[in-house]
Amino acid sequence: MAFTTVNPTTGKVEATFDQHTPAEVEAKVEQAARAFDTYRRTTFAERAGWMRAAADLYDGEQPDIARLLTTEMGKTFAAAKGEVAKCALCMRWYADRAEGFLADEMVESAAGRSFIRYQPLGPVLAVMPWNFPLWQVVRFAAPALMAGNVGLLKHASNVPQSAILIEDLFRRAGFPQGVFSTLLVPAGEVAGLIADDRIVAVTLTGSEGAGRSVAQAAGQALKKCVLELGGSDPFLILSSADVDQAVKVAVTARVLNNGQSCIAAKRFVVVDAVADRFIPRFVDAMAALRVGDPFDPATDVGPLVSKAQRAEVASQVDDAQDKGAVVACGGDVVPGDGWFYQPTVLTGVTPKMRAYEEEVFGPVAIVEPVADLEEAIAAANRTTFGLGSSVWATDPEEQRRCIQEIEAGMVFVNSMVVSTPELPFGGIKRSGYGRELAHIGIREFCNAKAVWVA
Ligand code: NAP
Repeated sequence: MAFTTVNPTTGKVEATFDQHTPAEVEAKVEQAARAFDTYRRTTFAERAGWMRAAADLYDGEQPDIARLLTTEMGKTFAAAKGEVAKCALCMRWYADRAEGFLADEMVESAAGRSFIRYQPLGPVLAVMPWNFPLWQVVRFAAPALMAGNVGLLKHASNVPQSAILIEDLFRRAGFPQGVFSTLLVPAGEVAGLIADDRIVAVTLTGSEGAGRSVAQAAGQALKKCVLELGGSDPFLILSSADVDQAVKVAVTARVLNNGQSCIAAKRFVVVDAVADRFIPRFVDAMAALRVGDPFDPATDVGPLVSKAQRAEVASQVDDAQDKGAVVACGGDVVPGDGWFYQPTVLTGVTPKMRAYEEEVFGPVAIVEPVADLEEAIAAANRTTFGLGSSVWATDPEEQRRCIQEIEAGMVFVNSMVVSTPELPFGGIKRSGYGRELAHIGIREFCNAKAVWVA
């Protein structure tokens, strides 16, 4: 299999790479296992030095790296620069704090002395998606490497240049050979890698289907597994909401990354009391977005990542329309080169429609009017997913009810959902299990060793 960068703006092939041969894969896995033997004994200060050097490279080479992201998967250049900067920030954040997060925790017990010691597990396989080609990898790698683990990356097949670049940046930052390696292999080889005795754990960010396969392989091999899967995040506009602000943020929350974010707001649940003030303005703002060349600073929404991805979004919208949903704006592909899709708002979406049940990975918003807070919470929870949620309310009681009752890994009040190093990131239900980021994320791939000294 060849790994190809196809520019979503033009549909043209930009670069092609050969799959790694079985011998190359074997060499990289063996190198990772050997690297772990020595890397696990390095100090936090040494690892932090390399991690900060990596952050400096991301900052220093930001425009070139961002250009690659935009060319490879179509996000706007501004968003790409933001992603590169966020990676550097996360690397420094863990460089500064890993030692504190993993310090021995003294425990009161009947022993003379007892404590918990956090130790690295070994080579961890990371199976990653294309939508944030650097950030998804860095938010795994920064904590994992600071903890003393080593990483093997199987990136999405359509972002081979990003995959190669990440290995190169860690290498140039000074990390020893084998501490972070990219494997150019297809999804079909993931189960075999998970079964390999030298690989001790796996993390996947991706779709439900990939999650099932990886969890099955990890279960079979009895290995630790973290899953960050899809979402259909609700965005609740309640009676006490600052509607002006909610409209503005709602648009960004839906079309960020050209609508291809797991934590994008996908279902806009609005109570009757503010529906007349929210819905028409939201529809107008979505319709006014500029779709076009992601390198043009005036562009709000670039292309979808691939022809297949655009066809999938189009078929979800068509299905809803065929079954009676109303297209308030958009609803079609943009003719011409590239895989552009119009920012779209659907109303009247019901459970028999695909757009209701499935994650829609594109600039398509579903608006659902409800009577009151009670119904809004019920609507928010009426999904098989449970990743993020955004609640718009100034009333403390409305806020409290939502924080307490929404079934999701994250509740953001008067803000869109974002990932940030300080807070754990992850979901419940079919959005996966385990957490990334914060002090919890760095401990996912550690042995919490109980020590009892009598
Ligand atoms: P995807 O098709 O599941 O691919 C993700 C990764 O998994 C790729 O590296 C892919 O490799 C690999 N993969 C696919 N099928 C596999 C299988 N059966 N066994 C092992 N590996 C497999 O997802 P995507 O289309 O790239 O990304 C979009 C999805 O990711 C959305 O559902 C989105 O919500 C989710 N996502 C979740 C988060 C989160 O943190 N919760 C963040 C971002 C994205 P190939 O490319 O070679 O197929």
